[in-house]
Parts: sequence; structure tokens; C-alpha cells
Amino acid sequence: MPGSERRCKLTRFPRVLLVLFILAVLIASCTSTPASGSDSQVLKVTATTSIVADIVRQVGGDFVQVTTLVPIGTDEHQYQPTPQDVANVSHASIVFESGLGLEQFMDKLVQNAGGSAHVVVVSDGITPLQFTGDIKHPDEPIPSSGGDPHVWVDPENVKVWVQNIEKALSEADPQHASQYALNAQQTTDSLTSLDEWIKTQVAVIPPSSRKIVTDHLIFGYFASRYGFDQVGAIVPSYSTTAEPSAQDLAALEDAIRSLHVTAIFLGANISSTLAERVAEDTGVKLVQIYTGSLTTSSGPAPTYQDYMRYNVTAIVNGLTGAK
Ligand SMILES: [Zn+2]
Repeated sequence: MPGSERRCKLTRFPRVLLVLFILAVLIASCTSTPASGSDSQVLKVTATTSIVADIVRQVGGDFVQVTTLVPIGTDEHQYQPTPQDVANVSHASIVFESGLGLEQFMDKLVQNAGGSAHVVVVSDGITPLQFTGDIKHPDEPIPSSGGDPHVWVDPENVKVWVQNIEKALSEADPQHASQYALNAQQTTDSLTSLDEWIKTQVAVIPPSSRKIVTDHLIFGYFASRYGFDQVGAIVPSYSTTAEPSAQDLAALEDAIRSLHVTAIFLGANISSTLAERVAEDTGVKLVQIYTGSLTTSSGPAPTYQDYMRYNVTAIVNGLTGAK
């Protein structure tokens, strides 16, 4: 018995040493590693929408702290900035906006924040699309604010965002440029995978059924890349702020009937009264999608990639009759 007790003590002793050693290593590594995520080294930036903010986060990683101006689930076309937004813009090293007329509130906001904010338009370099659907509006042309601002519904355009974001972050924080380049490459790779996934998903929709009607004209770039026809919208505009006339709605209903459209895709943050009326008149179904905003982390679209996958699944199911 005394022998076994001694053995026991002998084996216990090195374990104590081992634990002390591990603790020492941990403490040493905590104090000697540069605090990459600490406040002193983090670049504070602001993004207009949750979609832009998500891509900035993917490229910036641990070295960037991103605040978002337009809250989740809020319509960015009609957004009115708050005093907190003015403070965020004036304190941000960079303010990222999507651009092409999407954020109508930006000019005034930047002015109210002192006018010296470093604004980066992430869509710079993308050629804007003009509406080429079947519905014509001779009396009320599509607002020509540089074309369709909803560039992000084509992942190839988001690759341009990634490049612009990487460039801006690297210029503002050259110390972490190689990390931004690595993150940008990983994000670009994930966008390539997303694009391939979308192609395989939409392949099940017969070409004759690839007709998209939405609450406002959001899917132009998606239609162009994946072989759809954006037939029209409840609000025949690139913005949700316009009011459709009775003629607009009648023309849309005619198009829905004559082109055998099967679904209207409605943004989660958009009033559905008019869409419900059109759906009732024409017998098509209403399918919920996400348009200008992601969801919170507990929702189905907390990242841009999730948002696209959710919407593509909704579109495929809506146009093929699958549940
Ligand atoms: Zn929109």
C-alpha cells in the first residue's frame, strides 16, 4: 500500500507541472500575440444596408468593426436617417454605400455629418442595367437614376464589391492588407460556388416558365445572368417609392395572364395590399422573398450567400409549383 501511494503521488506531481506549463503557455500566448481584435487596432467603418455590411464584414474579418445604417427589415429606398446615423458616419473611417441611386438619403446624411466622410461606392465599375421587360410605360418612364441599383442579385457583381471593399480597407489600413486580400479571395471563391449552385438550381425551371414579377424591379441582373425575363412589378420602378397607376396595374395583370406567369415575389418588408389584389385578380400565388435587407442571425438569410440561396429556392419553388 505505501508503494502504491508513493506511485500515485509520483504520477500526480508531473500532471500538476503539466497543467502549470499549459497555463504558462496560454498566458504567454495571450500577452505576446498582437491584439488583432482589440479596439485600438480595429478599423471602424459604416455600411448603408445589411447586405453591403455583410460583404464588408466578410472582407474585413477581425480587423474591421462594421455598423449598419438601415436596420434589418427596413426599406432602404425610403429610409430616413437618425441622429445616431449622423454620428456613425462622422466617426467612421470609411462609409460603404451600394450606389447607383439606391441610397437616396446619403447626400444629406453625409452633409449633416460634416461633409468630410470617406464614402466608397462598392458598385463602382459595374455597368448599370436598364429595364427591358415587356411592360412599357410611355407616360411614366423608369426613373433614370443611372439604371437598376439592385446589382447584388448577381453574385458576379458582388465580386466587384469585394474588390472595391478590399482596395478601400487596404488603403485605410495597409498593415492588414495581406489579410484583406486573403479574405477577399475566400469571399470571391464562395461567390463562385454560389453562382454555380444557382445555375444548377434554376436549371430545373423550364425556359418558358422563367418569368419574374416582383413588388418593385429588383431582379434585372439576376434575370440577365440566369436566363429569366423580368416581366414587370407591382411598382414598375427601381424604387419602392413610386405609386403604380390603375393603368400600370391593368397592364401588369394583362402581362401575367398572357405570359402565364405563376407567381409574384414579394419582399418581406413591403406592403402586400396591391400585390394581394393582383394575385387575386390573376390567380397567381404570392411568394415571400428578401429584397434590400438580410435577416437577423435567427432568420433564414443572415448572410448575403444565405439570402441568395433563400431567394433562389423561393423562385425555383414558385415557378415550378414545388412546395
Ligand atoms: Zn429595391
